[in-house]
Amino acid sequence: MAEVDVPVKHRGAASELKAVLWLLGQGYEVFRNVSSHGPCDIVAFRENQIFLFDVKGTSGDIKGVSGPKASKEQISLGVKYIIVGGNECCIRQPKEGPEHPLCQICGQPCRSRGAKYCSEVCRWLGTPPPRRKDKRYW
Ligand SMILES: [Zn+2]
Repeated sequence: MAEVDVPVKHRGAASELKAVLWLLGQGYEVFRNVSSHGPCDIVAFRENQIFLFDVKGTSGDIKGVSGPKASKEQISLGVKYIIVGGNECCIRQPKEGPEHPLCQICGQPCRSRGAKYCSEVCRWLGTPPPRRKDKRYW
């Protein structure tokens, strides 16, 4: 297939279509996400097995590309990546992204890596009140 020069704004869509075509060629039944949001771009099945794929385009050679970092949701769903470069595709296992620590009060994930609490409320709950001789509340 000849390489088509696609404007930058359409490159994501073009990569996805190339991935769809490639999967069809590999014998998969292919279904696309109708929204641009969600943990994967493509649902496919082959030999009674369902696969979830997220598509990542690259301008370079696909051979040296390792799996991009995935969200916790993608990891738990078992989403795999299809790396698209030129007219070539390959499937890669995603790497787990940096884990945010869990809140010391409620156990929800914190919003940043160095945080101990998920929210101001939990920070307040986790901060011991000052001793009486330090500060009075009344
Ligand atoms: Zn919390």
